Parts: sequence; structure tokens; C-alpha cells
Amino acid sequence: MDLPEYAIEARGLTKTYAATKTTPEMQALKGIDLAIPRGSIFGLLGPNGAGKSTFINILAGLCQKTAGEVLIWGRDIDHRPRDARAAIGVVPQEIAADPFFTPKESMEVAAGMYAVPKSERRTDELLAALGLSDKANAYVRQLSGGMKRRLMVAKAMVHNPPVLILDEPTAGVDVELRKQLWNYVLELNRKGVTIVLTTHYLEEAQELCDQIAIVNRGQVVVCEPTATLLQRMDTRMVLVTPDQPLAAAPALAGFETKLLKAGGFSVTYRTGQSSVEQVLAAVRAAGLHIKDISTEDPDLEDVFVSLTSANSVAA
Ligand code: ADP
Repeated sequence: MDLPEYAIEARGLTKTYAATKTTPEMQALKGIDLAIPRGSIFGLLGPNGAGKSTFINILAGLCQKTAGEVLIWGRDIDHRPRDARAAIGVVPQEIAADPFFTPKESMEVAAGMYAVPKSERRTDELLAALGLSDKANAYVRQLSGGMKRRLMVAKAMVHNPPVLILDEPTAGVDVELRKQLWNYVLELNRKGVTIVLTTHYLEEAQELCDQIAIVNRGQVVVCEPTATLLQRMDTRMVLVTPDQPLAAAPALAGFETKLLKAGGFSVTYRTGQSSVEQVLAAVRAAGLHIKDISTEDPDLEDVFVSLTSANSVAA
């Protein structure tokens, strides 16, 4: 079988939630075009209410789109809904686990729902991969929050889908567990599984995702490889420690300066307009002697804020 170039493709996807007695009509997706490359770890970021869950729910078949086209693994969700859904595993945001099943039973039920033949089930392998082997026969209600979440990932993989969607998978999960979960996700990706995730932890997205789409008010504001996205920020900062601590930030012509805690200061410049050389020349021209300098690159947080606040698209 030919593999599709894109794991997921959406064209002109819109979703309007009808008005209710208490809420007005809500256009949650306003013509989304997205192409998620096969084999990538793709981050879907955006502020609350941006439309991320709506998008994921449409992929998962939990929400009816209003218009537009969606292909999952090359299969149109309107024309081949079952084939399309067989290609994705979705880990929902909310932990929904039956307290009266053991993880092993819970996995078997999930496999049954996807009609995975008994001989092809990988219950033990998946539980082991997510560090749940010793809890395989415990009741789900006896598991910690982190364990339940890992069980949800295992359940989403029972039918061995080529695409795994994780909606805020590490929200409320402690650092240790988060790392464990990410290691498993990275391992799956190395094995060829395309990963789509939404997260609030921008640092995490920056580290893990090859490509990032930022969604705001139902529209894709930007969709680029992570490195390209970071290069968009053309501000850089030089942190200067003078030989004598300062009481106030020095005024440097053409640059913005700020006093730092230990009597040092930061100088912000734009890469298109100035260079570190010019910053240093300005510092020396102000009669200051430099003991040490370092530079700081912008991170995804800066990009995110600049794209979703000041320049955000009007509703
Ligand atoms: P996100 O996941 O990015 O936080 P959502 O997709 O949950 O965003 O929500 C997008 C918009 O759609 C929000 O304004 C939200 O209030 C609205 N919305 C989400 N679900 C429903 C629903 N079932 N009925 C009506 N409005 C909804």
C-alpha cells in the first residue's frame, strides 16, 4: 500500500456550534487548512478556546464538522469513516477509565471495540511499554492519576494505529512521569507513528515537535517547522555583567536596556538592525567595562505571545 504524504489533511474545515438558550452561535473553526506530515511529531498550540479540542474531536468522530474536508491517512472521513478512524488512536484530555476493570481487562475491551483479533492483541506488550505491567490486574480505581493517563495511551494504541493524537497528555502529570510518557511517545515516533499533540507546555512543544501550528480563534495563524518558527523572532538579548555592579540600567543610544538583579543589565536588539558587535561598542562607548556577557535566544513562548496577542486575527 502506498503511504500517504500526510497523516492528516484538513481543507477549509469549519465548525459552528449552534446557539443554545444560554450561549450564542459559536464559530469554533473558521476554515482550517492543515497538512500534518507522515512521521512527524506535530504540535497544535493555541490559547484556551482556540478550537484545538474541536479539531481533535472532529478527527476522533466525536464532533460533526460543519464544512470542509478531512483526510486521515489519506482516507476521507465522510466517505470512509471507519477506515479513517482505524488509522488514529486518540488520547482524550479527560481521564475516563472504568473503575471496575483492571488495566488488562480495560485493554481487552478497547481491543474488542476495534475488532482486533485475539491473536493480534498486544495487551501485555503495551502495558509493559507504559510501565503498567505490575498493575495489570489491579483495579483501575487503585491507580494513580499518572498511571491512569498512561493506561489511556496504551488503550489508544490497541489497534496499532499509524497516527496517535494526544490532547494535553501531560496536564497535571508530574515531571518524572511526563518524561516517561514523552520517552514512550518518542519511541513510538521512531517506530514510524505520527504524533499529533496539543499542549500548554510550550517548552515541551519546542523540544519535541518537528512542526508546530498555532491556532487562534478558529484559524491557523502559523504552521511551520519549529526551527523556522523560532527564527521568526528577530529580537535577541545580550546580558552584560559590568566590572562594577550598577544601580540603574545605562542609557545606550538605539537600544532598550534593563537592570538585572546582580547589578548587570540586558540589552535588547533586533537581528535585522544591529549586531552583538554594535551592542558591545555602545556599552564601551558609555564608559562601562565588561566583565562577562552572555546571549539569550527567544523561545517558543515569545513567538506564541507575539502571534496570539498583538497580531492576533480579529474574531
Ligand atoms: P480549545 O480546545 O482550543 O480550548 P475548543 O475547541 O474547546 O478550544 O473551543 C473552541 C470554541 O468553541 C470555544 O469558544 C468554546 O467555548 C466553543 N465550544 C467548544 N465546544 C462547544 C460545544 N459543545 N458547544 C458550544 N460551543 C463549544
